[in-house]
Amino acid sequence: MRKGKRKFGKCVICAGILFAVFAVLCRADNSAIQEAGVSAAKMIAGEGMQRLVMEELDRPQIALTFDDGPDPEYTEMLLDGLKERGIKASFFLLGKSIEGNEDIVKRMYREGHLIGNHTYNHVQLDRISDAGAREEILKTNNRIYEITGEYPVYMRPPYGAWKKGTEFCVEMIPVFWTIDTLDWKTQNVQEILSRVRKNIKNGSVILMHDEYKTTVKAALALADELTEQGYEFVTVDRLILP
Ligand SMILES: [Zn+2]
Repeated sequence: MRKGKRKFGKCVICAGILFAVFAVLCRADNSAIQEAGVSAAKMIAGEGMQRLVMEELDRPQIALTFDDGPDPEYTEMLLDGLKERGIKASFFLLGKSIEGNEDIVKRMYREGHLIGNHTYNHVQLDRISDAGAREEILKTNNRIYEITGEYPVYMRPPYGAWKKGTEFCVEMIPVFWTIDTLDWKTQNVQEILSRVRKNIKNGSVILMHDEYKTTVKAALALADELTEQGYEFVTVDRLILP
């Protein structure tokens, strides 16, 4: 019996020790679980945040660019639509069209659009003398500077004709395009849309002219459609600089 009692006593002690160890393990386990939970939560929140940031960074970027303005009738209509949508575009202005439309240029600048140069008289730069090309460009730059207080850095050469080396002589960066909408030729919203839809991709630079009602309609339709598809509209400098 005594042997049995001792055994019983040992069993009670063992059970007590086991219980104590179990209790310690449980506490340890609970805090471990808590820690794991916190770090998991942190990880999830962190990953979620990281995912959002990555998605934002990964959004394909495109640029709407408009030549030959400012136009007294249609440019402001376009600016209204872009403002409503919070979209920035790039405008390459003709020096000769600025006169009388200074307020439109001021508004473009105030609303964060990129303002570039498209020569004074819409000349083909590789067909005139270097001095003539320089004058066409600098005269337009000066007109823009007088209005915005900022000297343009970018220029779109009419007809895409750029004589090699001109950038060194006028210190400007020529900007071309990847999608020619031929908006001036067709003046047809559906045709403009289908040309863009067929060719759009990350980094696309879309060429349009803000002097037609059809262009304004097409540009704003594209703004809605391509935003919906996940594209981000940026000023063209963000696509051409490394
Ligand atoms: Zn042009």
